[in-house]
Amino acid sequence: TSGLPTLTPSPIAWTIAGSDSGGGAGIQADLKVMSAFGVHGCSVITALTAQNTLGVQAVEPVSTSMLRAQLDALAADLPPAVIKIGMLGGLETCTLVAEFLQTVEAPVVLDPVLKSTSGTDLLNPAAIDILIREIFPRVTVLTPNLPETELLTGHAIESVEEAADEILAMGVESVLIKGGHAEGDECCDFWSAGGTCCWLTSPRIETRHTHGTGCILSAAIASAIALGQDTMEAVQTAKSFMNDCLLNPANVGAGHGAMMIKP
Ligand code: PLP
Repeated sequence: TSGLPTLTPSPIAWTIAGSDSGGGAGIQADLKVMSAFGVHGCSVITALTAQNTLGVQAVEPVSTSMLRAQLDALAADLPPAVIKIGMLGGLETCTLVAEFLQTVEAPVVLDPVLKSTSGTDLLNPAAIDILIREIFPRVTVLTPNLPETELLTGHAIESVEEAADEILAMGVESVLIKGGHAEGDECCDFWSAGGTCCWLTSPRIETRHTHGTGCILSAAIASAIALGQDTMEAVQTAKSFMNDCLLNPANVGAGHGAMMIKP
């Protein structure tokens, strides 16, 4: 009633990801989502990208020493309730983040960002092995889309449930296989933690403004976990949050534009 801000500390979420100069994906989307959830977002920038709604024009990794400095700065003062990981970019970044994750306890949501829609590599293909061997065992929720699922399992998907089992066998605690790239008037995602699993189905939203959907979904899962939801509840909350974003394009740029991210 005094109008003064609350003195209760907000839960802290970190995003370890790439910058999108166009403001639709990456760090920029993650921080907007965290803010919409009422979570304090901190960022560890792995790479800069020069991009707009038409595509990615340039990518430059952040130096290993600067990456380390960002992680150390946050670890010393802003302990995370959850960590979201997006674009990692290169081999060194992957190795350093893998080592760092051994030193923190928070749950990890990993969006295995491999390529942009426009075809630019956002992870050096040589780093995929490190991602699987050294980061997957620390992951609470992995969020591959269908092409990423095929790349990770090494073959075309025959059954989504079987693909989920194969990915779980790589050491992640749970996996959300996102069905947005499939045909059909419903978008069907499958979440599995092995013993427990569920299908998440919603009507397909026809829009060209899909840039950043993967980032928004994984940042929303992370935010919901930071607020105390269990993993299955968090993926459900995040899917409905992301669908609301898809219904609210920012209508900027000539290409695959960004979405408005509202509480
Ligand atoms: N740029 C950055 C920094 C990202 O993290 C991502 C996806 O995670 C993208 C671009 C790709 O976005 P899209 O494939 O939606 O264009």
